[in-house]
Amino acid sequence: MFETKYLIRLDDACSTMKHSNWDEVEKILDDYSIKPIVSIIPENEDKSLNYSHKNINFWEKARNWQAKNWIIGLHGYKHNLEKTNFKSILNFYNSSEFTGVPIEEQKTKLRNASKIFLEQNIVPKVWVAPKHTFDDNTLRALNEITDIKIISDGIAIKHYFSKDFMWLPVQLWNFRQMPFGTWTFCLHPNTMNKFDFQNMKKFIKKNSHHFIDLNNEILPLRKVNLFDKIFSLFFWTRRKIKIHINNKKRNN
Ligand SMILES: [Zn+2]
Repeated sequence: MFETKYLIRLDDACSTMKHSNWDEVEKILDDYSIKPIVSIIPENEDKSLNYSHKNINFWEKARNWQAKNWIIGLHGYKHNLEKTNFKSILNFYNSSEFTGVPIEEQKTKLRNASKIFLEQNIVPKVWVAPKHTFDDNTLRALNEITDIKIISDGIAIKHYFSKDFMWLPVQLWNFRQMPFGTWTFCLHPNTMNKFDFQNMKKFIKKNSHHFIDLNNEILPLRKVNLFDKIFSLFFWTRRKIKIHINNKKRNN
């Protein structure tokens, strides 16, 4: 019950990613046989993710990840984020590719995204919403259009079952040791630097036995408990305070 499990999620894989950084990350993971969730954008239109020219071999690379048993995440459709006044299930940001979008439009996005994956022989197993923002209609659309049963998101200490999906919480953006629970480290290889690679290597070397392979992991139908709720309250309060302090600093 009190064991510690770690997962790595790599965000923003697309044909214009920073390939040298991704190669570096892949090498570290391969050295320790770690199978991450890799979130792939089917048809990127987010200019902030243009780290290179469009690589025509991108999908071959993605198939190679799949062949290595990396878990493929469907990372939205075009990653074009728009401001929204609607509330996301996870209140991280007020911009989204999905939150507040009418359900029929969400279905169309998912249908188009799935079509691209199918054409490229890629089977997504996990939903990874751009910016962590999506709503109940996204879940309904996912249920209807895709075979995805796992959401890579949520603030809790362990995975939990809710709204017809298994949720694998994503709580950490930097490597740190945790006393117990299942923790996903969310990494953005495109913006990682030398220091980040070293840090990643050091942490994995020390903790490699705690990393799980989602392909072999049985996830019991667990519900959130009091510990999850306390952690969630702590997480969101801490985030609010941090944002407040950063805004104050910026205004000074
Ligand atoms: Zn993203």
